[in-house]
Amino acid sequence: MNRVLDFTTPMLPTNKPRYLMGVGSPDSLIDGVMRGVDMFDCVLPTRIARNGTCMTSRGRLAVKNAKFARDFRPLDEKCDCYTCRHYSRAYIRHLFKADETFGLRLTSYHNLYFLLNLMRQIRQAIMDDSLLDFKQDFFEEYGYNLPNAKNF
Ligand SMILES: [Zn+2]
Repeated sequence: MNRVLDFTTPMLPTNKPRYLMGVGSPDSLIDGVMRGVDMFDCVLPTRIARNGTCMTSRGRLAVKNAKFARDFRPLDEKCDCYTCRHYSRAYIRHLFKADETFGLRLTSYHNLYFLLNLMRQIRQAIMDDSLLDFKQDFFEEYGYNLPNAKNF
């Protein structure tokens, strides 16, 4: 994807918005923005949420795992979304195990909030001229290994 973006984006007009379809993982969103993409859409955040997988500041969290049965922390301790402010990993895990659809609504809400907040942080980093530092810091916490990220 990045090689294709490197090839195609210089050919696109600079005064028009650039749209990349089907990209929704945090690493791909950041890589796309760094190559000049303005807009994205993707089913990923809600699709994985319906299976109990949550995007967090420390990487993906599979809330159905047994280790969360008595974990009363929010999905992401750094998130201030409705789900994270009101419900624990243990409760959300219970909802999934009981086939209560409220659980997948809570995880979907969280994942969408997470990505909207990520894009908000990316916009701020662009305005602060600190996108490379933001990328490095985000990926270190999220769990990506980017030895040359500063040399993008
Ligand atoms: Zn949240």
